Order: sequence, then C-alpha cells, then structure tokens
Amino acid sequence: MFLPRGEDSQQTITVRVFEDGDQRFVMKSEIFKTKTEIPFILETISMEELFENHDSHTQNVEFIRYPITRAKHRATPIQRHSGDFCVLAIDFFFEFLRELIHGRRVFQLLNPIDVPLFLQKMDGFDDVFHETETPYFLELDTTLQGDTDFIVNRPDNDVRNPKEDGFTVQDLKNELAHLGLTTTFPEIQDYAEAVYSEVDKRKKESVLRTCDLFDAVEHCQLNCVLERLPRLKKFVHSQKGCYRVYGLKCEDCATDNPEKQEDQKLKILEKELEDLKMSHQKIIEENLQKSLEIQELQQKNLRLSVKNETNEVKMKHLSQKLAQSKLSIDDGNYSIACTSQLKIQCLICEKSIESGQDQIIRCPLCKRRFHSKCAINWLKEHTECPACNGNLPKL
Ligand SMILES: [Zn+2]
Ligand SMILES: [Zn+2]
Ligand SMILES: [Zn+2]
Ligand SMILES: [Zn+2]
Repeated sequence: MFLPRGEDSQQTITVRVFEDGDQRFVMKSEIFKTKTEIPFILETISMEELFENHDSHTQNVEFIRYPITRAKHRATPIQRHSGDFCVLAIDFFFEFLRELIHGRRVFQLLNPIDVPLFLQKMDGFDDVFHETETPYFLELDTTLQGDTDFIVNRPDNDVRNPKEDGFTVQDLKNELAHLGLTTTFPEIQDYAEAVYSEVDKRKKESVLRTCDLFDAVEHCQLNCVLERLPRLKKFVHSQKGCYRVYGLKCEDCATDNPEKQEDQKLKILEKELEDLKMSHQKIIEENLQKSLEIQELQQKNLRLSVKNETNEVKMKHLSQKLAQSKLSIDDGNYSIACTSQLKIQCLICEKSIESGQDQIIRCPLCKRRFHSKCAINWLKEHTECPACNGNLPKL
C-alpha cells in the first residue's frame, strides 16, 4: 500500500516512479499532498521537472520503479493508495475505442445518418482525453457521458477467416466493405495499404491469420476516427500513442522528426560555423599581425620621410650655402676682374692707369689702353703697338 505524505514531513514516504518507454513520472497525488482538480484524472509530473522545480519534495522520499506493463490489448491496471484502479489515459482511450470497434461494433452498426452526431459526441470527450505534455492516469471506472445512446439498425457481419495462405490488401478492403464499414467511413479503404503493411510487419507467424485481420480492421477504423477528430488525434500525439495506430499519418510526429533532423543539421552547421569563426579569427589575427607590420613599416617609412625631409632641408641649406659660397667665388672672380680692370697697367711705363683720372689712348687693333703721354712718347720711336705688335697709324 502506498501512503500519501503525512502531516509529519520527516516521515519517509514511498513514491512510485512509473516507467513507460523513455518517460519517467510520478503521480502528483503521491508526491504532493494536493488533490487533482478533475476527480477522475490523476496528473503526473516528470522526474526531470520534479527534481528541477520541486527538489524539496524529494526529501525523505523512497522512489521505487514501476514499469507500466501491457498485454496486447490491455494495460495492467494500477492500484492507487485509495484502493481504486487506474490506467494511463492513452491506454484508457485505446481500450475504449477497442470496445466500440470490436465489443459493440459501433461503426459497423451505426445508422449512417447518426455518424456525424456520434463523432461529435466523441469529440466532446476532450475533458477526459485532452492534449497535455505529461502523461496522466484515468480512474478505471470513468464513464464517458452519452456514449451509449445511439441507434443500431444495420446487418451485423463477423470478420471472416482468411485463406490458409493469409490475406492480401484487397482481401482487407473487401472485408472492410463486408463489415459495412465503408458505409460509415467511405474513406476507410484508403487506409488499407498502410495498415496492411504494418500488420504484415508485426505478424508473429509466417502467414497472416484471423487475429491479424481483426487488427487490420481495427486500425483502419482508428485511422478514420482520428483523422475525423483532430482533437483526439492531438491527444493521442501528446500522450505519445501515435506509434500504436498502424499507418497513422501524424503531422506533429512528422514535424517532430524533421525537427530532430534539422537539429542535427543545425548542430553540424553550428560546428562548421565555429570552424569558420576559428579560421576567420586566425585570418583576423594574421591580418592584425600584418597590419601591425604594415604600421611598423609605415612608421619606419614616416621616420625615413621625416629624415628625408630633414635631409632635404639640410640639402637645401647646404645648396644655399653652396650657392652662397659659389657666389662668393664668383664675387672673387668678379673682384679680381674688377681689380684688374681698375688696376690696369700701362705696358709702356708699367705703371697703373687710374681710370677716370689719366688720359688714355687705345690701340685700335687690340683695344689695350696706355697712358696718353707714354703712347705719344712711344710713337716717337715706334710704329707698332707694344701689346699686339700691330702697325699703328702715325700721330
Ligand atoms: Zn504524433
Ligand atoms: Zn702706360
Ligand atoms: Zn705710360
Ligand atoms: Zn696694339
């Protein structure tokens, strides 16, 4: 017997950890002291969430494993601390539908006019079968209001035994028609192929037997019901029951899986991006190194150009100085020339000719200048110029 947490919180309590596939969860009524809002629904909390958000509730608790077990068509009921029994909502749902399909043959016997009304009523069971993240239990004696008041007035045929070598998809389609199911669900034969291939995969013997035909007929009807009642389909998906309906095309499962594939792709892309970032970083660092080198070079260049400028300035100075010194040399030349011109000698008396003071005579041939007195005296005894030896005219 499993006792709820008592007033004395130090008291160790035992809590069952239900295991179903990869899911691990506990009943909220066992771990918390709370009662569920809806009396026939027993909510659960996943072990991950329990330890993440309600760690204090895990003190003084002895957790014991409790795997959910199922016979082919029935889940093993779980006894509560109150003594009542419950099963997972998804198991309750499949048992409920199996009862409708095989027990009461509702879809074989339903008046075609009442089909929409009946399905509408089933759709109204969403208080019992609701879409929710975590699994939940339903009390075994939960009754579904209004599931009995429908009119039955059609021929009641049994599933026939297949031939010794089994049955084909066409045989299944024929059987669906034979059972009057094509009247209730005109689309039911569309599911035959997908359901048949699943039944064929799971068959225990080498040939398909009557029990396999029963399964195939059941799953074709399940497909019809779930495709017509999207809310129930969502419930089945949320309770991870999609794989239990042969050939069911669940859009949410289809999006879940590609999402996982996308996740994988995303992870690969992220890794590639990381690698790219790394190499990019490397390039940036190399560039930085290069730009540092370039900067250094530029600074060097700048220093050189400054030096160059300085040199240019120096050179300018030097050339100016040089020009000045040249000028002074020129001046010197000039002054010598000037002096020679100023201190020109008379070749006859060998004394200087003071320009502007002494009277001079030029030789018409060589243009040399002489003192006038000297030239007159010279010409008394000579007929040629003392400088150029050219003949001079008589005075
Ligand atoms: Zn699904
Ligand atoms: Zn002279
Ligand atoms: Zn003279
Ligand atoms: Zn002369």
